[in-house]
Amino acid sequence: MNVIRGTAQRAAHRPTLSREVVVTGREQLTERMLRVTFGGDDLAAVVHGSAGSWVKLFVRRPGDDGEHGRAFTVRGYDPLRDEIEVDFFLHDGGTMPRWARGCRIGEPARVGGPRRGHPSSGIATSLTLFGDETALPAVAAILAREHGDRPVRAFVETGDPRDRQDMDLPRGVQLTWLDRRAGDTPGARLVSAASRERFGAAAGVWFAAEAGSAALFRRMLHDQDLAELHVKGYWRRGVGDYRD
Ligand SMILES: Cc1cc2nc3c(=O)[nH]c(=O)nc-3n(C[C@H](O)[C@H](O)[C@H](O)COP(=O)(O)OP(=O)(O)OC[C@H]3O[C@@H](n4cnc5c(N)ncnc54)[C@H](O)[C@@H]3O)c2cc1C
Repeated sequence: MNVIRGTAQRAAHRPTLSREVVVTGREQLTERMLRVTFGGDDLAAVVHGSAGSWVKLFVRRPGDDGEHGRAFTVRGYDPLRDEIEVDFFLHDGGTMPRWARGCRIGEPARVGGPRRGHPSSGIATSLTLFGDETALPAVAAILAREHGDRPVRAFVETGDPRDRQDMDLPRGVQLTWLDRRAGDTPGARLVSAASRERFGAAAGVWFAAEAGSAALFRRMLHDQDLAELHVKGYWRRGVGDYRD
């Protein structure tokens, strides 16, 4: 679900493009977050101006017939080098984490995009973000675009405190890390944190995490009067290649 209530502006439409890219860099950010940089020609065409925009990344693994494609946030874009950064959460059992762990400089891939990220109408006088590790790149990108002219809170749930990232937070931004313990339902601590918040009618709320918790979150805020509400399941427990 992606609802903007109030005087929503029409997002600029850009066609979905596909670009051949190669791996140009790798950086282990935290225990289970790996940053991979991709270079190509005219990558501006696959990067949307909205914070936390995302691409469909397609890779091939040795021995597989076709490509594997999954959604990933454009964490950074360098127009001078024509490079984008993608942060992979290295969960166990994923196709993309396995590819990312093994990829080498020069390895080919393909990106399709752009897809817009945080569809802000600009009318929310405060913003609250909720996300798990897969949403951390989007949360960081959205926070980086704030100008300190409204209160912003972010809640990020991780399964390992070593996956907390140091971030330069703009003025007015408050970041809270939530620890997911073994046996917890993914996203449950985000839903619980949101249940304790009071959102006014001029508030903007953004949520991205496991699809079951996204559904709970959606139900919880269903009747609430908000300026902006954006809720998305980024993955679903037990389902490969999940699409919300
Ligand atoms: C708009 C958007 C932006 C996204 N941005 C990012 C991003 O920047 N970085 C990022 O890492 N992910 C991001 N994701 C989430 C990512 O697309 C999914 O996690 C996807 O499933 C990854 O593919 P996979 O090959 O790892 O797992 P799949 O092959 O899709 O799934 C295999 C198994 O892994 C499980 N699984 C998938 N994700 C997780 C998880 N996080 N924890 C535990 N188990 C999991 C599935 O339930 C399934 O059982 C984004 C998703 C969306 C929709």
